[in-house]
Amino acid sequence: MTYSYTQISQYLTCPRRYRHRYLDGWQEKDTRAAMLFGRAFERALSAYFQREDTAAVLFREWTACKNQGLRFSNGDTWDRMLQQGIQLLDRFCQDDRIRIRQARRNLQIKFTRTISEKNDFVAYVDAIGKLDGTRCLLEWKTTSSRYPEEPDGLLALDPQLVCYSWMTGISEVAQVVFVRKRLVEVQYLRTTITDEQRAEFGQLVEDTIRRVESAQFLPHSGIRFPQNPCSTCPYLGLCLGKQNLIDAALVRRPGAENLGWLDELTY
Ligand code: SF4
Repeated sequence: MTYSYTQISQYLTCPRRYRHRYLDGWQEKDTRAAMLFGRAFERALSAYFQREDTAAVLFREWTACKNQGLRFSNGDTWDRMLQQGIQLLDRFCQDDRIRIRQARRNLQIKFTRTISEKNDFVAYVDAIGKLDGTRCLLEWKTTSSRYPEEPDGLLALDPQLVCYSWMTGISEVAQVVFVRKRLVEVQYLRTTITDEQRAEFGQLVEDTIRRVESAQFLPHSGIRFPQNPCSTCPYLGLCLGKQNLIDAALVRRPGAENLGWLDELTY
C-alpha cells in the first residue's frame, strides 16, 4: 500500500471519511473552481521558472477548465479569477524573491520512503529552491484569504510542511501564498522544522497506518458548533444517507483504494 500526506490527514480529520474515500472509492467531483484554478496557476508558475510565457500558460490551462461545470464560491467568476491570477503572477515576478535552479529537476519532485515491508509513503514537493537567498523546500498555495502570520512560529505547526520536511530531511521550509482578493497579495512565509517534529511525524504515520490496517473507521468529526467539520465534508450525504447530497458532491470509482496517493497531485 502506498500512503500519502493527504491520506494520513483525511484519516486524522475523520476515520469514516477515510473509509468513504479510500476503501469505498467515493471521490469528490472535480468541479471546485478554486481547486482547478490552483492547478492551472501552479502550471503557470512552473512555466515562469522555465522561462515560458506565464500569462499565456495560465490562460490556456484555465480555459481548459471553463466548460467543466465549475462550482464557484465567494462570488468568484472565471474572468475575475483569471485577472487575479495574472496580477499575482506579475507581483511574483516583480518581487523576485524565489530562485529555482534547474527547474525541470527541482519542481514537482517525487519522494518515496519505505515504512514497512508492505507499505511505503510518497510525497510530491512543489519545489526546492531559495527564498531570499536561503535554500528551502517550497510549497505554493492559492487562496482567497491571507494565511495567518501570528502568533510567531505558527507556521512550524503546519502538518503538510512537517510531513514534507520528514520526507526530504530538509529543515528550512516555506509557503508562498497567492492571495486572490481585491488587492492581490503574495505572502512569503518561512520556518524551520526540528528533528523532533520530524521524528514525531514518522510515529504519527506509523500509528495511523496501524489503525487503518486494523480497520478502525469510527466517525469522529469533532462536532462542535459553529465549527462542525461535517457541514463542509464532501461525504456528508453518505453519512446522512441523503442521495441528493451524494449525487451533487461525489462520484464513485470502486477498486481505486490503492491509488489514493494520486490525490497528492490534485489537492
Ligand atoms: S460527514 Fe462528518 S462523520 Fe461523515 S465522514 Fe464527513 S466528517 Fe466524518
